[in-house]
Amino acid sequence: QIAARAETLTKTYGSGDTVVHALRGVTIDFKAGEFTAIMGPSGSGKSTLMHCLAGLDTASSGRVRIGSVDLEGLSDKDMTKLRRDRIGFVFQAFNLVPTLTAEENITLPQGIAGRDVDREWFDTVIGRLGIGDRLAHRPSELSGGQQQRVACARALVGKPDIIFGDEPTGNLDSRSSGEVLDILRAATDEFGQTVVIVTHDPRAAAYADRVVFLADGQLVRELRQPTADDVF
Ligand code: ADP
Ligand code: ADP
Repeated sequence: QIAARAETLTKTYGSGDTVVHALRGVTIDFKAGEFTAIMGPSGSGKSTLMHCLAGLDTASSGRVRIGSVDLEGLSDKDMTKLRRDRIGFVFQAFNLVPTLTAEENITLPQGIAGRDVDREWFDTVIGRLGIGDRLAHRPSELSGGQQQRVACARALVGKPDIIFGDEPTGNLDSRSSGEVLDILRAATDEFGQTVVIVTHDPRAAAYADRVVFLADGQLVRELRQPTADDVF
């Protein structure tokens, strides 16, 4: 079963002399329940690919499917609903609401979607991410690493079909990185969620089922069951 698919995706920014080909025909499947890490040099198109997959950006040509839904035909309203119901996104810049506490941030998407929070899973996520004693704090009272883990918890708590993460361990020390990668692994193993992250962290390879490498807007390599040594 395919959770997401990009088909001959291209993305061009600008035009004329300043044109940038961020994606040059990327075709890739993400199987349901798999954990994929996307790696590659800065500027290779990783963020663009993930933003197109998550419906946060539109490709110049090609197709994106989430499950059986082709994003091209969707109205803004249906796109919003699909993102809300089926996709969790961990942004590089966290995107937490500054006036809300950590707990309110984490449960906000559920409230917006009119869904009850699964308290048992909430407690599991919070416990494993080690932020149980930070729930009443606002983002400004949290370290970067704690904000990062709150952002991860927010993406995980609704058990979306797919979780996308833009360098979800980018601001974390090695212990916190391990906790984030552990919980993403648990999301796939225990709930069959699909995880796709962009990362520069070689340790992520040990948690992922597969690492794909982008260079200059193209897929250049794919490793299955990688180890950290494979990507150093
Ligand atoms: P990565 O995530 O691998 O660092 P990006 O997807 O962010 O790569 O960027 C791919 C290329 O597209 C880079 O050359 C980058 O400068 C360019 N790019 C990304 N976003 C924009 C944008 N909004 N406007 C113009 N160029 C962009
Ligand atoms: P990353 O660490 O993911 O590669 P970037 O610094 O490439 O991050 O991009 C961060 C944000 O800036 C993205 O939303 C991307 O679309 C935008 N961006 C990247 N390159 C450019 C650019 N040359 N011009 C305008 N926006 C850009």
